[in-house]
Amino acid sequence: MSAPRSAWIDDDLAMFQDAARRFIEAEVVPHELRWAAQTHVDRGIWNALGAAGLLCPAMPEEYGGGGGHFAHDAIVSMEMARALAIGPSLNVHSAIVAHYILRYGSEAQKRSWLPRMANGELVAAIAMSEPAAGSDLKAITTRAVRQGDRYVVNGAKTFITNGHLADLVCIVAKTDPAAGARGVSILVAETAGLPGFRRGRILDKIGLKGQDTAELFFDDMELPVDNLLGPQEGQGFAQLMQQLPQERMLIALGTLATMERAVEDTLAYTRQRQVFGQPLFDLQNTRFKLAECRTKATVARAFVDDCMAKVLRGELSGDVAAMAKLWCTQTNCEIVDECLQLHGGYGYMTEYPIGRMYVNARVGKIYGGSNEIMKELVARGM
Ligand SMILES: Cc1cc2nc3c(=O)[nH]c(=O)nc-3n(C[C@H](O)[C@H](O)[C@H](O)COP(=O)(O)OP(=O)(O)OC[C@H]3O[C@@H](n4cnc5c(N)ncnc54)[C@H](O)[C@@H]3O)c2cc1C
Repeated sequence: MSAPRSAWIDDDLAMFQDAARRFIEAEVVPHELRWAAQTHVDRGIWNALGAAGLLCPAMPEEYGGGGGHFAHDAIVSMEMARALAIGPSLNVHSAIVAHYILRYGSEAQKRSWLPRMANGELVAAIAMSEPAAGSDLKAITTRAVRQGDRYVVNGAKTFITNGHLADLVCIVAKTDPAAGARGVSILVAETAGLPGFRRGRILDKIGLKGQDTAELFFDDMELPVDNLLGPQEGQGFAQLMQQLPQERMLIALGTLATMERAVEDTLAYTRQRQVFGQPLFDLQNTRFKLAECRTKATVARAFVDDCMAKVLRGELSGDVAAMAKLWCTQTNCEIVDECLQLHGGYGYMTEYPIGRMYVNARVGKIYGGSNEIMKELVARGM
């Protein structure tokens, strides 16, 4: 019982999907439990993903990318989620940071950073959140002060995905604290040997164990003025607002793949598990619960497919992207909870994928903008 192929996946994308699935199953999945234990991936997986063409598939070939478009990022995102391959965040690297650089970067920035991101030489992260500012991004206090041909950056970021390994970090900072949203800019730091750049601990999370979520600190860290993203200061907030809908779609796509995987796994489990002399699946409660879960996942897919068609036509609005993120992450939590219950005690064991899906699902309602903020965005669109 696998999901039907979505209309936005043409034959070329289906071939790309097949190749991605095979690579992820062979080269990523076998390491996930070890990465979870060490709380970060092996650095070499990034180079292997680059060599396999799974990094920056949507970037133009002239910048070392795969020459595709957002649907290629979407495919990678879904295949990683389906395989429970959460270690390297390709969403942040390829589908978020690379798009910021492509859209707002100068020609020199694109030529410098994108090819090295596409081959895995640079691992990318985006640093918005701070210890005292997450939902309310205007309240960030990281400060970038221009001094001649340099910016001097001071501040602290937290919850940064890929943060422990990142070689390239997009930093959201205030360049003019008096100007509100218009005083926010994005600066790009290459971290190797950069004085004043410091990583904190890898944060101990309840799920997404193999993903290196870290704190970052900037102490009089100097960046060339050429590392500003965009032609002038003060455009950071607008850049974030333009890119966040795409980020929310990636979360929706990943959680959709997880829902479908949870239903598939639970169907297989309940068919072989015997209770009271019959397969668990034959009990009406099991059949009804799985019927409900499958219905929810099918409805979610129809909505996500509709959103994807809008993305590819350049018509996805921020409020509809927020609906997709809100609906899919909430529904995913409901589905994995029901599916875990049907696994009984085995569902609570980390060796069963459903247990990992359960703990990984929870963050979907928090990151990428919390679901309360998604409701605000939906309401603003009414
Ligand atoms: C695993 C993980 C990875 C992450 N990766 C990154 C990353 O790579 N880069 C990055 O910059 N950030 C990252 N984040 C941070 C994430 O985006 C924030 O946690 C999120 O935006 C919420 O901010 P906060 O944690 O500061 O919560 P707060 O903003 O303090 O919110 C606390 C609670 O209040 C609610 N709330 C806040 N404002 C309102 C409102 N106006 N109306 C109603 N309710 C409200 C929130 O919904 C939430 O329930 C990550 C977080 C996690 C957990």
